[in-house]
Amino acid sequence: MTGTIVLFNLNLRLHDNVPLHTAAANGPVIPVYIYDNTIKTRWPLGGASKWWLHQSLNALANDLNAIGSKLIIREGNSYLVLKELIQQTGYKDIYFEHSILPEASIPEDRLYKLCKRFGGEARRFRGQTLFHPSQIHTKDQTPYKVFTPFWNSCLKHEAIPTPLPIPHLQAPENWPDNIPLEDLKLLPTDFDWTNSLDKCWQAGETQARKALDQFVSENIDQYDNDRDIPSLKHGTSKLSPHLHFGEISPITVWHQVKNAIDLSPSKDRGGKVFLKELGWREFSYHLLYHFNDLDQAPLNKTFQHFPWVKDTGSLTAWQKGQTGYPIIDAGMRELWQTGWMHNRVRMIVASFLVKNLRIHWLEGAKWFWDTLVDADLASNSASWQWVAGCGAEVAPYFRIFNPTLQSKKFDPDGEYIRRYVPELKKMPDKHIHEPWTANQDILESAGIKLGKTYPRPIADHKATREEALIAYQQLKSSKALVS
Ligand SMILES: Cc1cc2nc3c(=O)[nH]c(=O)nc-3n(C[C@H](O)[C@H](O)[C@H](O)COP(=O)(O)OP(=O)(O)OC[C@H]3O[C@@H](n4cnc5c(N)ncnc54)[C@H](O)[C@@H]3O)c2cc1C
Repeated sequence: MTGTIVLFNLNLRLHDNVPLHTAAANGPVIPVYIYDNTIKTRWPLGGASKWWLHQSLNALANDLNAIGSKLIIREGNSYLVLKELIQQTGYKDIYFEHSILPEASIPEDRLYKLCKRFGGEARRFRGQTLFHPSQIHTKDQTPYKVFTPFWNSCLKHEAIPTPLPIPHLQAPENWPDNIPLEDLKLLPTDFDWTNSLDKCWQAGETQARKALDQFVSENIDQYDNDRDIPSLKHGTSKLSPHLHFGEISPITVWHQVKNAIDLSPSKDRGGKVFLKELGWREFSYHLLYHFNDLDQAPLNKTFQHFPWVKDTGSLTAWQKGQTGYPIIDAGMRELWQTGWMHNRVRMIVASFLVKNLRIHWLEGAKWFWDTLVDADLASNSASWQWVAGCGAEVAPYFRIFNPTLQSKKFDPDGEYIRRYVPELKKMPDKHIHEPWTANQDILESAGIKLGKTYPRPIADHKATREEALIAYQQLKSSKALVS
């Protein structure tokens, strides 16, 4: 029997899907998604990611139906499931997109052996990144640890391939068994907290392509300025969950933005800044690929000895958006309500956790992992380490964000704060960034009782900043740094 099993993993799309495209040229295709909950991983899928995956698989199944094909969903050990599928269908070739992220990986080595055993072939293809991390290295053949030379090296690399169209798919004579998507139990069963996500997002390839079209035609011109203003609904593309789940390939995004820049000079500035952000995504994958403990250990090993503080009370206040710093509380509540947080605010809340509260960056990474719809092991780990000052790029530890100044600069009239911290709605602009500076009359007329309706700050920025700097100085001068 000739035909190919094509695996869908973090490539939940039909356009620019190289394994699908290649298999389609060889005869009938069986598209398969396996939910392998037997893999032992440090990072099992978080709640928000499971919600997204459910929606995305549903969309993919519909898209395949629309072109006369079908998504076969299975659950269990992926090796055993595939062995059974080969035996049931007689299809001995398996094509898949190579995943750089460990939490999504299928055991590639075992797949090669499995297909060989049955006289077939397993083939892996590009797709998750613009460049494979193994292709980019310094003159000494070592991985990059600094973004700018990394990105310059990427840009000198061979041209990024053109995205592929949806292939014509030939159906097999008989379809193998399938389980209903609901059986994967990706949606919460007890308390349904996903209502708010339903209102904010539509997963799937069609939606991903729509979001890209809209962003490129209407918003990219202003991206260089708008991307730092969290109150703007379209200041950034919000493509991150679509990119993470492979509903759109980075290659597609790259070419569409590049073409727009070439056609319209007004998109040049914003477009180029945007392409550089795709570079940061590449850099994160590069780091995780080459330093595969990036998700658990500091890249700068000195930080193994950093005196982190265990403080469950403060951690919970941070998670719930009850720190008393409006910009931080707005960000943490945006995350909880929408499964996403603006990049500028991610940096502010992360800095507060690791520097003012001195709570381990892994605690923050874990919370983000569970609550973000774009939770991505490479970008999350690299970004948390970057903010904590223990990562690759130079973000010196002593650069500690002042949440109040950041708030005044990037949310001057408090629009973002008022959206997510409604109890501060009536606070005048002058005091909205630091309600504790307002006198009793102002607080009363804004309907706020500090410590009751809105918390007092859980940490004093100036004092905790000093403590953090002392801890860092001690670390620097300790034997740990010397050895
Ligand atoms: C503490 C912290 C944790 C983060 N965790 C994640 C995560 O789990 N998943 C994730 O995708 N991003 C993460 N980021 C990076 C960044 O915040 C998001 O990619 C961005 O906010 C997504 O919104 P957007 O799609 O509108 O971005 P845009 O500004 O429109 O950028 C376009 C794309 O470029 C990529 N990108 C942009 N900025 C970065 C960056 N700094 N690092 C890596 N890629 C970037 C993303 O794929 C994004 O979709 C984190 C940042 C911080 C500071």
